[in-house]
Amino acid sequence: MTEVFVAIGSNLADPLGQARRAVVALAALPESRLQQASSFYSSRPMGPADQPDYVNAVVRLNTRLGPLALLDQLQKIELEQGRVRKDERWGPRTLDLDLLLYGDRIIRHERLVVPHYGMKERAFVLLPLAEIAPALVLPCGTPLAQLVARCPHNDLAIIAPGADIGEP
Ligand code: ATP
Ligand code: CA
Ligand code: CA
Ligand code: CA
Repeated sequence: MTEVFVAIGSNLADPLGQARRAVVALAALPESRLQQASSFYSSRPMGPADQPDYVNAVVRLNTRLGPLALLDQLQKIELEQGRVRKDERWGPRTLDLDLLLYGDRIIRHERLVVPHYGMKERAFVLLPLAEIAPALVLPCGTPLAQLVARCPHNDLAIIAPGADIGEP
């Protein structure tokens, strides 16, 4: 089993409900087990400002799926929750699932770059991640806590407690 972290984001069609449904869908992934889920956060949109605020969370899973098989599953969940791919970068979406970390692997594939290229600067990823994995060290050797300390996070707020994943 490999420990992986997935970021959840939504800002359309009941974002908190979308994020909760995403946790349920991730808990049902084949060959995988949901280990932990962060609180739900609200954040101001990155990129185009003419869109609603986001709801964000991060989950930790153990999985036997390979990295690309896991990406396929994440994209399937996005589509099942009504994700429509548009040309606008960082435009509004019902659900975005980004694979942040896949164990200690460094992956540079045309479909998949891990660690996720934006995670080191994004408060809406770093804070929920630090909530569930405060002692995490990235594959590059940088402690997560150092990134959190450097990153401004004025506009991030916890809006709901994390999904209850029950006893393993
Ligand atoms: P950003 O990647 O900056 O957060 P985004 O999430 O809006 O922006 P998407 O349109 O969701 O970008 O994804 C574009 C492509 O990124 C996907 O088709 C996927 O193949 C690729 N991709 C590369 N690395 C990853 C990763 N670690 N997790 C998810 N998708 C990835
Ligand atoms: Ca726009
Ligand atoms: Ca994203
Ligand atoms: Ca994405």
